[in-house]
Amino acid sequence: MLIKSEVSALDRRRPDIDLHDMIREMFPINRSLTGAGARKTLAIVADHIDLAIHEVESGTAVLDWHVPMEWNIRGATIRTLDGRSLVDFADHNLHVLGYSKPVHGVFSRAELARHVHTLPDQPDLIPYRTGYYADDWGFCLPDRLWQSMTDEAYRVDIDSDIAPGSMTYGEFFVPGETKSEVLITCHVCHPSLANDNLSGIAIMTALAMRRAEREGRLGYRFLFLPATIGAIAWLARNEAMVDRIAHGLVLTCLGDGGPFHYKQSRKGATIDRAVAHVLKHAGEPHEVMPFNPYGYDERQFCSPGFDLPVGCLMRGVHGTFPEYHTSADNLDFVKPEALDRSYAVLETLLELLDGNCTYQRVDGRGEPQLGRRGLYRAIAGQREAGGATQMDLLWFLNLADGRHSLLDMAIRADVPFARLEAAARLALDADLVRPVAAA
Ligand code: ZN
Repeated sequence: MLIKSEVSALDRRRPDIDLHDMIREMFPINRSLTGAGARKTLAIVADHIDLAIHEVESGTAVLDWHVPMEWNIRGATIRTLDGRSLVDFADHNLHVLGYSKPVHGVFSRAELARHVHTLPDQPDLIPYRTGYYADDWGFCLPDRLWQSMTDEAYRVDIDSDIAPGSMTYGEFFVPGETKSEVLITCHVCHPSLANDNLSGIAIMTALAMRRAEREGRLGYRFLFLPATIGAIAWLARNEAMVDRIAHGLVLTCLGDGGPFHYKQSRKGATIDRAVAHVLKHAGEPHEVMPFNPYGYDERQFCSPGFDLPVGCLMRGVHGTFPEYHTSADNLDFVKPEALDRSYAVLETLLELLDGNCTYQRVDGRGEPQLGRRGLYRAIAGQREAGGATQMDLLWFLNLADGRHSLLDMAIRADVPFARLEAAARLALDADLVRPVAAA
């Protein structure tokens, strides 16, 4: 049962930047696993936070993988033999298969067909395709356009290069009072796709800005990574410190207006219970899904040898919404209200993780007398500010046995975490409890 003040508390958590504006700024840039677009995108993030930019040389061995050659592209067209441009990378960067090698020549329609990707079921949309490790080239275009191209041959030009260079990723760390860390990641390798994953980049930037101005119990590490190879490279380079990661979350597809979906960590962890708790009390429709070894970078963080407590928060689930990996995942598809709401849920979650302490009663026998300590009066005052109820305080004092964290208590009492936190403050002020351990 939701109380109105709880929902409005969530509404008060607003990002410090206009998320949709930031997405609009990043949208036209051609991103890939490597190359100038990724650097340009990270430079935009670095306008807001003190981002460390890491370059990992092409060919570097990382776990079972190698960092790929760097891909850059300046232009690409399909033209009629009399010079009329039909498909131009300058119009939309989805038009070129990611990692296309350079090509210049005349190809028969039949030859070209082997390099053309369309969506016959969505004939007006351009699909998003990559050929990272394929040594190939290709074009993506609306099926309706391709069906209208009936010449025997076309002039094809792709002005690109695949050459030794480096792969770029961004990292921002806000230290906490303890060694424990929260890991938040998103991917930065998709070209003009707004929900997948510019929504993640913008929301993560806003979360990082907020954490940077707060002192917390936990450290917060934000990683802006090229998908898969970026996560693998980060794990390979940071193997010695991964045991500090107490909670982790991959952010993606958070700007569409659909319900939230949370994919649990492989091992089952506090983060899973925390996200489910926040979503439930945010009054947002949502679904919790079990771990599987497909999807985003949670599959790397939850891989054998690491098995970190990392889940994935999204609204639309990859592969299941019609705009996914098409030109319809555009600036109209992501909604400012949905972005702001996703931010508020995540900000609430980070505050929960930071405040999730365990307490023990100073005198752990029986129920303490509240009236003598002025606690009934204190509760009445707090209620006006949306704080703890008498029942919340009774739950807290009952479960403050050194074995239940505040999150355990909030779940058991089925009330928002913030109310158990408020109850804890009252009890601390009355010297009824002491903190015992970090959760
Ligand atoms: Zn994607």
